[in-house]
Amino acid sequence: MPQLPALDLHTRINHSPHVVILGAGASRASFPKGDANGKRLPVMADLVDCLGLKSLIEADGFTDTLDFEAIYDQIATSGNHSSLKAEIELRVKTYFESLEMPATPTLYDFLVLSLRENDVIATFNWDPFLVKAYVRNRAIAKLPRLLFLHGNVMIGVCPTDRISGIRSEPCPTCGGPLQPTQLLYPVRQKNYNSDPFIASQWTQLKDALNAGYMLTIFGYGAPATDVEAVELMRQGWGDNPTFELAEVGIVDIRSEDDLRKTWEPFLCRTHYGVSVDIWSTWLFGAPRRSCESLAMATLQNDPWHSNPYPKLRSLSTLHAWIAPLLSEERRGRFTGNPCLQPEDFREESAEPAKRIGTDFVLGWLKLLCKGQLTPPFCVELALRDGAHYNLHSVLTCDDDTSTMVVRIWDLRALNAEDVLTLKQTLNGIHDRQSLSDERLLHSKLDWANVHLHYDDISYAIEWHDRIWPDHKVTSEEIADSL
Ligand SMILES: [Zn+2]
Repeated sequence: MPQLPALDLHTRINHSPHVVILGAGASRASFPKGDANGKRLPVMADLVDCLGLKSLIEADGFTDTLDFEAIYDQIATSGNHSSLKAEIELRVKTYFESLEMPATPTLYDFLVLSLRENDVIATFNWDPFLVKAYVRNRAIAKLPRLLFLHGNVMIGVCPTDRISGIRSEPCPTCGGPLQPTQLLYPVRQKNYNSDPFIASQWTQLKDALNAGYMLTIFGYGAPATDVEAVELMRQGWGDNPTFELAEVGIVDIRSEDDLRKTWEPFLCRTHYGVSVDIWSTWLFGAPRRSCESLAMATLQNDPWHSNPYPKLRSLSTLHAWIAPLLSEERRGRFTGNPCLQPEDFREESAEPAKRIGTDFVLGWLKLLCKGQLTPPFCVELALRDGAHYNLHSVLTCDDDTSTMVVRIWDLRALNAEDVLTLKQTLNGIHDRQSLSDERLLHSKLDWANVHLHYDDISYAIEWHDRIWPDHKVTSEEIADSL
């Protein structure tokens, strides 16, 4: 009897993870025009050409420079070309480190945002893009765990504390600099246990595969030099007690027959899908809800509305699109309700790379951050989760952490009659200093401090008219004034 995934029917949250495996094809598909400066992203087949290694390799006596994997395998196993090996490795590292992320959203931005913190993305790639996508989206949402199966130029380790992290950031424990991770090259006899960091990545991947409900393989062709890698993955996925119910998605340009042969041990009957691009997978068809959507459709016979990612062209719009999903995650209960549709976003053009503009929301709120008090009902602050508050004042803003503290008027104790009384009192107030003692405005009026991320703010309304209807005005007088 196969084991069911960890779907909580009360909260409708599926705690079984979605595991994604990325190969070179994924980075290629994500950056078809290269990096921000048009620098090509090499795959093994064109690495020699891309990095200008041909003359270097020929100088050491190799005539056929096309098959980098075979050449490197020979260099590494023979032990006769140590300076060539060092030079190749330096060039590879320098090249990958120099790649820059385009300003517009890439497939990797969509990818890291399509999964939650319980999910895993394991990559064979050395390039910095997955990490760069992670870094620029991590303040917006809880992102999946990343694993680097062959090391990565942007990931470092602290050997003392045995912690890995972003190389440019200090060790979270001792504060010291992180050391570069070893990059694992395409040799037939890879030893995944020789480096403690790489060994830990594989252990975590096996555990995730063992507990997973969905597996997506994106642009990874399982080359001959990776026999051992595929076997390690098969052990993790094959021993999964949910294997019979789980779903595999393969994103690859090869034919289905070919892919079926390659991935046969990973597939259970027809529980798999093949597509040539990632937009038609469960990952992008139900972002942040793939495991829930599949379980609701197949196990509960209660499918959710489809909610695919629109092909949005700016990061800020993408962040706005996923906001309702994040709001549900904070509440700990999923509805399956779809987000806004593409036509609800009027994107004139792609986000400009660098432009100094005026921020009429945050910039304006920062201007208020000079101790100025705002009367109740005059400035309304709307947050992305749908909450609305009456702004009292902006206490402090910190651009380094993108957080701020605002004070809001607390009207919760006031009934409708009290609100009318308060509005009458406000009509008689002409200087902002009188607002500083809220008890003088109304005995039940209070305030509260709200600690916010800049991105929590959706918009602000500056109400124009603060003259409230007067109790004493009669209907005849209103009619007369018309
Ligand atoms: Zn440390």
